[in-house]
Amino acid sequence: MGIVVQKFGGSSVADAQKIINIAKRIIETYDEGNKVVVVVSAQGDTTDALIEKAKEISSKPPKREMDMLLSTGEQISISLLAMAIAELGYKSVSLTGAQVGIKTSKEYSNARIETIEGGRLIRELDAGNIVIVAGFQGIDSEDNITTLGRGGSDTTAVALAVALDADRCEIFTDVDGIYTADPRIVEDATKLDDISYDEMIELASLGARVLHNRAVELAKKYNVNLVVRSSMNKNSGTIVRGLSDMEKMVVRGVAHDYDIGQISVIGVPDIPGMAFKLFKLLADEDINVDIILQSTSRDATRDISFTVAKSNLERSISIIEENLDLLGAKRVTNTDDIAKVSIVGAGMVGNPGVACMMFEALADVGVNIYMISTSEIKISCLIGPEDVERAIGAIHEKFKLGC
Ligand code: ADP
Ligand code: ASP
Ligand code: MG
Repeated sequence: MGIVVQKFGGSSVADAQKIINIAKRIIETYDEGNKVVVVVSAQGDTTDALIEKAKEISSKPPKREMDMLLSTGEQISISLLAMAIAELGYKSVSLTGAQVGIKTSKEYSNARIETIEGGRLIRELDAGNIVIVAGFQGIDSEDNITTLGRGGSDTTAVALAVALDADRCEIFTDVDGIYTADPRIVEDATKLDDISYDEMIELASLGARVLHNRAVELAKKYNVNLVVRSSMNKNSGTIVRGLSDMEKMVVRGVAHDYDIGQISVIGVPDIPGMAFKLFKLLADEDINVDIILQSTSRDATRDISFTVAKSNLERSISIIEENLDLLGAKRVTNTDDIAKVSIVGAGMVGNPGVACMMFEALADVGVNIYMISTSEIKISCLIGPEDVERAIGAIHEKFKLGC
């Protein structure tokens, strides 16, 4: 008897009828003779609503208490879904991350899964239960509740699939699969039949929130059979796998991200070791830095600009301001009035002119570019947030990605 892990996102469990619908769908998989583990997210916008509740009390809530609060959203979903399955006459048990033994690192709001004990899960499955697990949460070595970062339920699902050596991991969501761009923004976006792990890691990291990037990294590492499909219909969805049949396609997708803040450190002495000093300060605080640009030398100094997630902007600025003397820099400026558009494709390597086509698409619609970054399989441009929809539409068309 094989094990199947199914994950249902917030929109798929948003109300009672949706929960009853997915309960029926889960039972179908069980009746096909599978052991079924289900991961669910918080209902609808519950996580955002919880964040708002915290803001009513404190502008800087303790991180531990924030994770304690946010983990409750998923607990509502697991219990309701287990009730719906019981109502249909099947055995089901809901379990929190802690009850499953999902052990994580200690970084509140961005913890990493380290181990999954699995014993309880196996016992419940062997007893004939459909097991419903709360996504997005775990516990650290001191039994504090941790959360895995926004969108982290996908990672819970893939990690459980790895721990249980599942036959497949199905991510059910509110669109039919992975598209060449966010189908809610680009009307003629095309659904991809398959995509490589590497391309999907890039797309997810660059803002395509349909999958959590860590989920895809984990799937790649353990070669998990991963499928993204709709919870509302039975269409085939998109397979994420090692090698994609369409690898020849130069550009597979366009991603966008509004969650960006830009910082510029002005007047950094033009001597060895300064970039190291600056980025060590941020690394020591677990702040992830994205696009980095250093200006040419002028008056024996340079400016260093880079981007961070919006949530890290304030903290990054205060760390740098506190250390301006150590860095010998003149001042620091910042903006959160910025966004990022990116193209991703494994076929970009050895295909000259791809960057030029992207810049031409942006020029055609009068979009100004602030910063550019490239790697073997992606090109990103920082632009104004008001230009994002126009930019992705133009890029999508330039690379003929539409259906
Ligand atoms: P869930 O609650 O099921 O986890 P999410 O909202 O996290 O759902 O992710 C699904 C959403 O991701 C879609 O509704 C879509 O707007 C967005 N999205 C962004 N980029 C893409 C893409 N390339 N393909 C499909 N969906 C995308
Ligand atoms: N509920 C969490 C969030 O909204 C986790 C998830 O949905 O995957 O980010
Ligand atoms: Mg999600």
